[in-house]
Amino acid sequence: MEFSQKSELLSLTPRELEELLLSLGEPKYRAGQIFPQLHKGLSPEEMTNIGKLTRQRLSEATTYHLPRVKRKLVSALDGTVKYLFELSDGNCVESVLMQYEHGTTICISTQVGCNMGCRFCASTIGGKVRNLTPGELLGQVIAAGRDSGERIDGIVMMGIGEPLDNFDAVVRFLDLVNRPEGVNIGYRHISLSTCGLVDKIDRLAALRLPITLSISLHAADDETRSAIMPINRKYNIAALLAACKRYFEATGRRISFEYTLIAGKNDSREAAEQLALLLNRSLRTRTEGMPIHVNLIPVNEVKESGFQRSGAKAVKAFAAVLERNGIRATVRRTLGADINASCGQLRKETAESELHE
Ligand code: SAH
Repeated sequence: MEFSQKSELLSLTPRELEELLLSLGEPKYRAGQIFPQLHKGLSPEEMTNIGKLTRQRLSEATTYHLPRVKRKLVSALDGTVKYLFELSDGNCVESVLMQYEHGTTICISTQVGCNMGCRFCASTIGGKVRNLTPGELLGQVIAAGRDSGERIDGIVMMGIGEPLDNFDAVVRFLDLVNRPEGVNIGYRHISLSTCGLVDKIDRLAALRLPITLSISLHAADDETRSAIMPINRKYNIAALLAACKRYFEATGRRISFEYTLIAGKNDSREAAEQLALLLNRSLRTRTEGMPIHVNLIPVNEVKESGFQRSGAKAVKAFAAVLERNGIRATVRRTLGADINASCGQLRKETAESELHE
């Protein structure tokens, strides 16, 4: 490995850290001392058990930035914490810390902005600014853990950005965050949510990581889906569900589907019937026994989209149709309703208010 540019310490594997130390004239065993501390949130300068010269060499040859808490909102309703993190170049992303009965889960962002163009989503309005690095993905987990004092048990990649549009960094992050000598979060406690990049779903399946794949489906027919999710014009529903089936066959991991309910667009009883039929037909025929789970999410209203959330009655009826057809449906509990906790909105708001300052 070449270390011509300054290496970002939080993006390195233990092996790469060893090589870096060797290139700096340090013994490679020091990687075993340094790696766990980096992943606890300590910069080289803060490591008291490392000699001064080593710290100096590391600081000169590398960078270490944890995302900085720029804003923090705590829900009075359920303790959900939303962070606006500032990255080393001044760009901001959001992460949300959620408390569930079985532990604390963090929702992280994978890109600054997003290019996918989903019509209901706040994160995509200004397009994609850049990908996050593996160290910045990991940094959100470390920084939120340090700030909150919570042990983080699970991760969902459902924040700003399309994780599969930042494939290599995400895969490296998964490896890093899973390391026992680091943050040590099991793959089974990690979910990746995608709008449906079929080629990348296949690449992910080939890695056979036992993470949970979450598909943002949001419609059961191509016309409706293409109207709200431009990616559907490249990979339609049939292609997407075929990839889901291959993913399940390769990994044995269940796939969950996200379905955002938008009043008058995709929330009718017929739409629910069509969704049930579609999922049962495409996923259950050969793959007997694949558990299908649909998360129903009344859309968060974003002023630019003009979409409105479905009423409670429509949501209940929609869920009932799915259940009747053997599909588990849960209505997503709205966490942090008082702090605008759905991702993308805080970053946008902050950018807008800074423009007007
Ligand atoms: N790009 C990935 C992950 C980020 S979006 C994906 O598409 O899955 C995370 C989830 O939030 C997706 O299911 C997305 O469709 C949903 N979402 C985005 N904007 C929303 C809104 N305004 N209301 C409800 N859900 C929304």
